[in-house]
Amino acid sequence: MTLKFPLLIDGERRAGSSGASDEVLNPATGTSIGRVAHASTTDLDDALAAASRGLREWSSVPGWERGRILKEAARRLEANLDAAARTITTEQGKPLAEAKAEVTRSAEFLEWAGEQARRIAGRTFLGREVGNRIDIETHPIGVVAAFTPWNFPMALAAKKFAGALGAGCSIICKPSEETPGSVLVLAQALLDAGVPRSAISVVFGRPDEVSRYLIPSPVISKITFTGSIAVGKLLAAAAGQVMKPVTMELGGHAPTIVCGDVDPVRVADILVQRKFANAGQICLSPTRFFVEDSILEQFAKRFAEGARAWRVGDGLDPSTQMGPLANERRVEAITSLVDDARRRGATVATGGERLGNRGFFFAPTVLTNVPGDADILRSEPFGPVAPILPFSNDDEMLGRANSLEYGLSAYVFTNDPARATRMKDALRAGTVGLNDVPTHLPEVPLGGWKESGYGTEGGIEILAPYQKTKFVSAR
Ligand code: NAD
Repeated sequence: MTLKFPLLIDGERRAGSSGASDEVLNPATGTSIGRVAHASTTDLDDALAAASRGLREWSSVPGWERGRILKEAARRLEANLDAAARTITTEQGKPLAEAKAEVTRSAEFLEWAGEQARRIAGRTFLGREVGNRIDIETHPIGVVAAFTPWNFPMALAAKKFAGALGAGCSIICKPSEETPGSVLVLAQALLDAGVPRSAISVVFGRPDEVSRYLIPSPVISKITFTGSIAVGKLLAAAAGQVMKPVTMELGGHAPTIVCGDVDPVRVADILVQRKFANAGQICLSPTRFFVEDSILEQFAKRFAEGARAWRVGDGLDPSTQMGPLANERRVEAITSLVDDARRRGATVATGGERLGNRGFFFAPTVLTNVPGDADILRSEPFGPVAPILPFSNDDEMLGRANSLEYGLSAYVFTNDPARATRMKDALRAGTVGLNDVPTHLPEVPLGGWKESGYGTEGGIEILAPYQKTKFVSAR
């Protein structure tokens, strides 16, 4: 079988020097779509050497021109929308319509950062004494090591490429080995648009070996990661040993509060759609549904009906509303969470099991009567499971909503503005939706509170994680 997913180092697509590689599976079929190359330390050294040169070359390109190139890359990505989306669906599983939206969002991040690259500026103060002038200069932070996941394989990498390249940094990205093609497509658009070949490398391998090699390298100045809290802590600890700054976009377990004054049918319909998007594998997914007693039964009934009717299938089939989970690990994790809840007395209102005999499909699942000690109420499900929990007292419920180490997002559905404001203020999360479950927009800085993260990505500050300042005092 040919090596479909090579390393990309200094503009060259190549196999790993050790010859190691691994299968990449289509999650809808469980069959191989090609092999992904694994980088040896020799390959990583090549990527580091290229990135050092890339930093010198790219940081000397004026921000105005870097902005033009990033915007051109966005245009090229959009022009390749259909093929890029098929790449995402074939390796990640999501429905083609969601994959197309992901390609568009990736382009938007490049475009947004391209615009911000044109606004990079310093500051000047008159000093405290006559003749003293103080300049605060803005510089690219250096070479970036980025570790990106499989759930939005293109968009979550695009955010990091956009910020780093916009700021003038070079970047070595290690995407998930399970979804290698999406980042290769993204990187190619950037190279075709004019980013120097040395400024971008894409490497794959054994994740812990790659991160243990790259993070302490003196060439690397910044670490950025999107993934689980557990791995985030490992990488942040390794970065701390060498005093390197990190940006961490980690997991969430979003309380989703449905108050008794809303139409339970309308809100259930909205939340079914938001819950099962990307098969629930979104860090911002609604995951703990607190529903006020007075509408609990109606809401749960409608939500379960919606989940039962949700069309699960191959993402390439246009009628599919939810694709497979991205990998066998997710099926095992969801099965274990559902079995645990069931064992402790929860009711499986619908779903609760794997679907079909090939691929990684799991039925949209609704749990009711979930006891407080069920694992699913503490561990992020990251899959198509909705535990529905009753509440009758706002303060007691908000205590439960805020009780976990996660603080990524939270949602409130109510028609009472005063109650919405009270809850928004009480919820300890970096994103709050009021009658809304938003997605990450480039214009918005997104980041987690508590253990859900460190720093933000996006917003007018999209370049800031990749910049450092220099204080110059002149007389
Ligand atoms: P994971 O954290 O093990 O893997 C996520 C990514 O990190 C993958 O790309 C993986 O290759 C990489 N990775 C793992 N160990 C690494 C290491 N030592 N060094 C460098 N990179 C490493 O998670 P998973 O099993 O793939 O997914 C399950 C959990 O991950 C979910 O429950 C969810 O919490 C989390 N997750 C979160 C996001 C997000 O958007 N925040 C995305 C994907 C996964």
